[in-house]
Amino acid sequence: MAHRSDARPPDRDTRALARRLARFGRVEWFADFGGGSGRYLSGYAPIARHAVLVDRSAVRLGATESRHYRAVERGALHLVRADLRALPFVDDAFDAALAVRVLHRLADLDRYLAEMARTVRGRWLLDVPIKHHLRARLRALRHGTRALLDDPAPAAVPGSAGRSRRYHLAAVRGALAALGFDTGVLSSGWWEPEQVVLCRRRERRRPRLRPVPEGAGAATRALARRTVCPACRGGLDWTDFAAFCRRCGVCYRHHDGFWDFAAGVAAPVPADALT
Ligand SMILES: [Zn+2]
Repeated sequence: MAHRSDARPPDRDTRALARRLARFGRVEWFADFGGGSGRYLSGYAPIARHAVLVDRSAVRLGATESRHYRAVERGALHLVRADLRALPFVDDAFDAALAVRVLHRLADLDRYLAEMARTVRGRWLLDVPIKHHLRARLRALRHGTRALLDDPAPAAVPGSAGRSRRYHLAAVRGALAALGFDTGVLSSGWWEPEQVVLCRRRERRRPRLRPVPEGAGAATRALARRTVCPACRGGLDWTDFAAFCRRCGVCYRHHDGFWDFAAGVAAPVPADALT
């Protein structure tokens, strides 16, 4: 996926990520969950033939499209607006994936993890903001609150008004194990506030791809094969501008450079669906 000419120079986090992802080897389909800003794109561009950026924010996706429109046009980069709890993809759609700087803002993490994991057939890298890093342990010693750190429940970050959370690492790894992944920690030490966890699916399955839609361009056709309705997980009818779910009677539009699967628009049933 060569689009370095229209990318920003990689920051330190992205360079570290690129080194870790290089061990994955080449992958066909890669998902960046919550990565709509495209910050880490240059980290996986060297290994991914197709990358799919999934994000709730239309603003972030629109800005990324304007910076990387050539990769989008070629079908190397796909931008998808979606709720990470209701992804518009078939099971096992992605060979590899990433969720970085995302988990802290997810309430009900188990539900998000289950839905993201459903679409990953191979390896998955995520960073987990933990609540028992060095500074938190020192603070707990001073205040006698060590028991809170050992509690497997997530903890709100003080001063974040409940919008930012930190997790018990073993609890998160346990949830991932229950979803079918072996996990390993790649961080250099327990004291780091963000722990990088590599997940590897124990039993790989092939995705049950959708039929190639006729009458759509190559980029749309490629994405459409692994895309379903996020509400009913049924198949969609495609053009380059919209994907229509007959079962739900809604249309998911392509606008401002991205596919909008976060907001279905009520659409009339096409005439051929009535025959
Ligand atoms: Zn549907």
